Amino acid sequence: MKILIVEDDLQLAQGLQRSLRNEGYAANHVNNGARAILSVQTNECDIVILDLGLPDMDGLDVLKKIRQSKNNIPVLILTARDSINEKINGLDLGADDYLAKPFDPSELFARLRVLERRLGTVNTSIIKIAGVSLDTNAHMSSVDDKHLDLSRKEYMVLKALMENSGRIQSREQLESKLYEWGEEVASNAVEVHIHHLRKKLPVGFIKTVRGIGYTIGGGK
Ligand code: CA
Repeated sequence: MKILIVEDDLQLAQGLQRSLRNEGYAANHVNNGARAILSVQTNECDIVILDLGLPDMDGLDVLKKIRQSKNNIPVLILTARDSINEKINGLDLGADDYLAKPFDPSELFARLRVLERRLGTVNTSIIKIAGVSLDTNAHMSSVDDKHLDLSRKEYMVLKALMENSGRIQSREQLESKLYEWGEEVASNAVEVHIHHLRKKLPVGFIKTVRGIGYTIGGGK
């Protein structure tokens, strides 16, 4: 899951980016409205965290532009403006949620999980497939109730595959979920994570679809 942070306060943005990464998200940051619109239009993110006081335009206009282009990407407004009118305005313009600064990061994460659940086919925080269980709230995974020790990227690969079970994820799709802009990606990075994951998971759990990508199937 890729989060776009639209925020001109660099310190806040970097802190947010760090804590989102610790929660297992990939997080990119832009500091103005024009870049935010471009990133959304080019599908570079799954959820937007939007500040309203931006240097080049009002965050509400960013939201308006996104919705005018018929894009339904979840948008959470995160702003110091906390009057009821601002809140109503934001929600009426198509924001999915609204959180006032200062905020408690754990509340932000909980709200992001709601948006995340709304996005996909996944409506529970626990996904279980063939003895492998993934708790996306606790960021824990287990096989037959035995805890799995996964690196952050391994967890992200497993999560992407389990949330899309029965569908094939291409190497490029997995890569885009794992890595942020400008992050150095080895050409075999996804293969390496899959290789490590396979050593920890039941035999045959992750299937290779030759030339296309990877998948896991339910119940087999
Ligand atoms: Ca601001």
